[in-house]
Parts: sequence; C-alpha cells; structure tokens
Amino acid sequence: MALTGIQILKMLPKTNCGECGIPTCLAFGMKVAAGQIEIGECPYVSDEVKDTIGEASAPPIRTITLGSGDTAFKAGGETCLFRHEKRFENPTGLGVMLTTDMAAAEVDGRIERFNSIRIERVGVLMKADIIAVKDSKGDEGAFTSLVQKVLDKADDAKLVLISDNASTLAAAAKLCGERKPLLLGADSNNREALANLAKEQGCPLGVRGTNLDNTVEIAEQLLNDGLKDLVIDTGARTMKAAFEDNIAARRAAVKKKFKPLGFPTITFPCEMTDDPLMEVMIASVLVAKYAGIVILSDLQGDTLFPLLLERLNIFTDPQRPMVVKEDIYPVNGPGEDSPVLITCNFSLTYFIVSGEIEGSKVPSWLLIKDTEGLSVLTAWAAGKFGADLIAVFINKSGIADKVKHRELIIPGYLATIKGELEEELPDWTITIGPREAGHMPAFLKEWKPAA
Ligand code: SF4
Repeated sequence: MALTGIQILKMLPKTNCGECGIPTCLAFGMKVAAGQIEIGECPYVSDEVKDTIGEASAPPIRTITLGSGDTAFKAGGETCLFRHEKRFENPTGLGVMLTTDMAAAEVDGRIERFNSIRIERVGVLMKADIIAVKDSKGDEGAFTSLVQKVLDKADDAKLVLISDNASTLAAAAKLCGERKPLLLGADSNNREALANLAKEQGCPLGVRGTNLDNTVEIAEQLLNDGLKDLVIDTGARTMKAAFEDNIAARRAAVKKKFKPLGFPTITFPCEMTDDPLMEVMIASVLVAKYAGIVILSDLQGDTLFPLLLERLNIFTDPQRPMVVKEDIYPVNGPGEDSPVLITCNFSLTYFIVSGEIEGSKVPSWLLIKDTEGLSVLTAWAAGKFGADLIAVFINKSGIADKVKHRELIIPGYLATIKGELEEELPDWTITIGPREAGHMPAFLKEWKPAA
C-alpha cells in the first residue's frame, strides 16, 4: 500500500534543514509519496526507514535495468494505466532478433542497421536499444560466439539472451560481464536453475510462460525463491493475445497491486507474422499498450522511424515541456558583425527558429533564455520572458564579448516590450524581428547592424 506524504513525514527527522534540496520535510515527504524524489536524498533517515518507505512507495511495475552505469536501459517503473493520469516513465525498449541458425551476412546486416539507424529529433537521439540473441539450435558454442559478436560490434546494445538451457545461458552471461543482459527464459522445467543463475550473475530474469496463468505461477515461485528483477513473456504470439495479456497484467499490477504481474513485459512481434509491415503495426500497438520491450525481426529506417516517433510521443511527460539549455548558440559560424537574436527555451521553438536561421545561411548568434519550456507569448504572460529578465540574461551571457555591435533582435510577438527593454539595456538597440519563424531568412538577409 502506497504511503501518503503525511505518513512519510512521520518517519522523517522534521528538522526542515533543507539539505535534500527541498525547504521542508513535509514538502520532501509529499515528493517521495508522488515518486518525484528518492527517500535516500535525505541524509538523515535510517536504513530501516529507507527499506520501509522504499518498499511502500515502489511503483506497482518494478523498474528493471539492463546494462549498467549511465547508459543502462530501464523498463517498467510505471504507476498508471493512462498517460494523462500522471505520465509514463520508461520508454518501451525496441530491439532486433538474432538467432544462431541465421546466416552470418544476415547477422552482420542486422547489427550494422542497429548501429547506423539513429535519428535526432527536437534534441533527442532516437534509436533501437536492444539486441536479442536466441539459441535456436541448442548449440552452446554457436550461441556464445554470436553473443560475443554482438558484444564486439554493437557497443551500446543492451542484450536479451534467450535459451532454455541454464549452462548455455551461464556461458553467454559470463561473457557479458557488466553489460548485464536479460536472461530469458525461466519456464516450469528450468525455473530453479535459471533463478540460481540470475542471482549469481546479478541479471534480471525473464519468465517464459505458456499463457498468462502459467506466467503468474512461475513468477510467484520466483518471487518465493527471492528474485526481485523479473520481466514477463506470457507466451502470446498473436497480436490479440499479446494486447490482452499486456492490458490484463498492467491492470492487475496497478489496480490490484498483484505482485506476480508487477513487472515489465517482453513481446515478440517478430514471431507473430512474416509480413514486415504487419509486424511494425503489431509493434506499434504494443508500444501504445504497455510492452516494456518489443523485439522486431529486423530494423529498417522507414519502419523503425514511425515506431521511434510513436514512442517519443507516448513517453514524453505531458506536464513537462521539452527544453533546451539556456545558452548562446552559434548558427552558420557567426562572427563579431553577425546578428544577435533571442528566443525562449521551448525546444520546438528553438528547433524551428534555429532551422530557419540555418536555412538562411546567414551566420547568426541565437540566444536561448530559460523560460521553463514556455513558448514566447506564454512565457511573457507568465512573467518569465519580460524585459528585466532578458536584460539580466543579456548582461551575464557574454554575448557583448562576441560582437562589436549592440543590436538585439527580439521575437515579433514581444514588440510591446521594446521600450522597456531599451531602458533596461541602454547600450543596445532593440529591433523587432519577424513574428513567424518562416519569415526569418528574408529578415536576416536584409539585416545590417544599426549605425
Ligand atoms: S534533508 Fe531530511 S531532515 Fe532535512 S529537510 Fe530534507 S527531509 Fe527534512
């Protein structure tokens, strides 16, 4: 049962020292209850309290980590059924399947496409995350050499190792070391051996059921064996079954706190159809409906891109605008006579404006002011993009050392603050820029510094 902020407050020192970065213990307790901060951020709580609160405030879908360090991949951690209730936490992992009976050229091609299909959009690098390696021949030597190839050729791939043989999985898991793969899968026959292997290697374990009931049975036994980090494959190999199982599992975990299903799911559109377009369609349904990991048969730019975009849309926190860092951004190699423009740090605005400047080929300095992700007019109305704040930013930004002139181009929508800004920045001439970014190239081509 989740604890409330008040219940958590009772276990805190109540000194309001602020060392956690939050001014009061009550505010800290509320944030812990909302899952916005870890209890360990307060240096004064005992390990006992950490365990009690950590367990009680844990999300109903456990967070599972593949790999280690800053680049680790996380699945699960979800707390709600619908994004508008709060937000979705960890984007579905997209992966590609390699099997030991595949020709070497096909394996190399899939690894090459895993490495090369990377797309940047609004400052976010979009790419596949996982390579699944399957022991389809029951051949330990072939399996370990395929795993070694992936380790050598795909530096940032997270691994899912698939075999029902404990010693085969153990040999491959040892090769992976700190890259901590998901070991799949524990079924009714090999459960005990794989549980011991997962504990020994410190890796998450995949449950491989024949249906949802069988998955629950195996997960319950693994929980009793003391395993905590599980991923579940309900055995569904049709879109309908996978869709239904994902929804049943999420509902049971979130609404009923049903522990055996409180784990991210792994799904295999690659084993549901031979039609590549149908496979992507199935994958898109499973990204939308709760899959923690989706494994595809191959990666192609034209089909992976829509999936990556769908994932970006679904897993972007609707309550938190995407932002870029407050800074001076040089566009087209500007110099001391180049125009200086300013806008807000809402990332969509930044990418549209910087794209238009880049397209104009006019070397320019683009100043991005932190407006907490609000767009120009909204930020101005909220008091985050007023003349006084812009003046403070201009003076501390260092732009005056980069240009000889003193002319600042402000967004057309901020025309009303021109006079006020001239008072705040008496050394600068304020010029009103275009209202629409699309008019920027023509404006910049005409621009000359004020005499
Ligand atoms: S560090 Fe701990 S004691 Fe200090 S304000 Fe935060 S919660 Fe309270």
